[in-house]
Amino acid sequence: MGIAEDWADLLFNLDCLSKGAAKRKFRKSIKYGWGGLCCYCRSNRAETLDHLKPRSRGGSSLRSNLVPACRECNHSKASEHWLTWFQRQDFFNEIAKELIEEWISNKRFIEEELDERTIDDRATVCTTASEIRSNKNEQTCTRKSSFALTQIKNGAEKRSTEYSVV
Ligand SMILES: [Zn+2]
Repeated sequence: MGIAEDWADLLFNLDCLSKGAAKRKFRKSIKYGWGGLCCYCRSNRAETLDHLKPRSRGGSSLRSNLVPACRECNHSKASEHWLTWFQRQDFFNEIAKELIEEWISNKRFIEEELDERTIDDRATVCTTASEIRSNKNEQTCTRKSSFALTQIKNGAEKRSTEYSVV
């Protein structure tokens, strides 16, 4: 699969079996996407994820709106527009700005699938379901997606049984 835009995609694709594990993997993939450094100052360790468009202004918690940031930058930026704030900082630079803009437009591809599982039939079903899901029209549950969901649910139950035996 590609990069998860929503943490729930990881759960949905059975990359992770629990909400907590999916959220952790999602957050990690964002941090490692920037080498573990704050995307703004590029000198401090990223300890937080910053909403580029603040939640208070309707910003989403999807990958394209989340960047790793150190506490100082995150706190200083607060609920300001990221670029307005960034341009005022001593450490502002054009390349960092472009990288963030690329991230927002979701063009920045990273080697995150180091442990990519072997594609099998179940993964194909999940990919199809993920495409259906990704159109953000979750209210409309087509027969195809119900089928896929049932497949995934069965898969998840089977897997959790396997794990609980171990
Ligand atoms: Zn910083």
